[in-house]
Amino acid sequence: MEFRMPSYYNQFKCIADKCPDTCCAGWAIVIDDKTIETYKDMTGEAGEYVRDKVDFEEGIYKRHGERCAFLNDCNLCDLIINQGEDKLCKTCTRYPRHFEEYGNLVEAALSMSCPVAAGLIIDNPDRDRFKCRVDETKNKGEKVDKKLLDVLLRVRKLIFAITADRTKSIDQRMKEILLLTEKVQPRIFDYEKLGAKRRLSAFSKGIFQKLDEILDKCQHDLSQRALSQDDGKNGKSKLSKKKKNNYIVLRQSEDRSQEDNNMGYQLMKEYIDMFLGLENINEDWPKTMGEIISLLYHRHIPEEYKSLKSEFVSAMKTREYEYEHILNYFIYTYFLGGIYDYNILGMVKLAVVSTLIIREMGMAKWLQNEKELRVEHQLKCAYSYSRQVEHSEDNQLAFEGILTAHPKFETENIISTLEL
Ligand code: SF4
Repeated sequence: MEFRMPSYYNQFKCIADKCPDTCCAGWAIVIDDKTIETYKDMTGEAGEYVRDKVDFEEGIYKRHGERCAFLNDCNLCDLIINQGEDKLCKTCTRYPRHFEEYGNLVEAALSMSCPVAAGLIIDNPDRDRFKCRVDETKNKGEKVDKKLLDVLLRVRKLIFAITADRTKSIDQRMKEILLLTEKVQPRIFDYEKLGAKRRLSAFSKGIFQKLDEILDKCQHDLSQRALSQDDGKNGKSKLSKKKKNNYIVLRQSEDRSQEDNNMGYQLMKEYIDMFLGLENINEDWPKTMGEIISLLYHRHIPEEYKSLKSEFVSAMKTREYEYEHILNYFIYTYFLGGIYDYNILGMVKLAVVSTLIIREMGMAKWLQNEKELRVEHQLKCAYSYSRQVEHSEDNQLAFEGILTAHPKFETENIISTLEL
């Protein structure tokens, strides 16, 4: 069995009452069946005390307003204080840690919705932040399509190689991963269409050959690019400009027309508008989105917005890794979900659009704060967004649905919002 986790995973420690935004308010906490039974079996005053604060019909802790009924005025948990940590439900014990199982592979992660976890994920210039541990135990979890999992792992590895290339802007890296996934996705859908029986047969061979070709070419181009960068340092580049980038055909930003730029601006504004319509998890979500629209779009024509954006991007140049980590976080968390729905392009779009929205939130904050974006503000943008989108099933489903079906989120359109 293989365990994979981010290198910072074990550094997490809850700061409880020092937390700037407790996770014990704002949403319903679902209690697992085993803990529900424990609460039902508790006797005496302790049992009455606990049961009084549990909604057994819904299987959640009761709430006073937005706050968990166990959360006291000092933002500490009375259930832990009075009954001990072992009486917490699974959700509370684990949060912000979560695990995804893919057959013999288990991936652990921290959720960016927790401010401390967001700091560990984002505020660190290091690269390559995943580590693996393999042991001999067999996973008893659900069986998965091993062939498809291997392909997805290979594609994800390539995506991480692209996002790690700091010689390019984060927008360029986002474009490249979108275009790579655009090429791979049709083959994955072909494989899905074969149906369970034919997937096991020789029918799938041709699809895997085509996938191998695409991935080999991408891999080859990435190594050539790395080589050419080394050579470039010595002033003797061996590759032509055309060859360096030949697995993707991109129009460079200087070739982009005015019309493209305005379309990108308009689309970005419409994306934010869509997020304004989500179910509220954070009380101040509509206000935050409203401020972005007013500060960035209503007060600026496309040309002014573009120049502000380029000023913001320059100001954040030395901290561009923060967006790389946000992007990688979404890729790491969601990409392998494609094993179940075959929709890897949707997952990459989710990662790119999420990174873009968090960046717009940061840009609005930067503008409000005399053109300074402090790390704590960046983290707040990230964890608020994560709570809003990742911790509401309705919001997540709605978001995934529009990313897949809405023409505004076609790859080409998302690309037009990059490097405006
Ligand atoms: S959000 Fe994170 S740091 Fe804050 S109380 Fe919850 S687990 Fe602790």
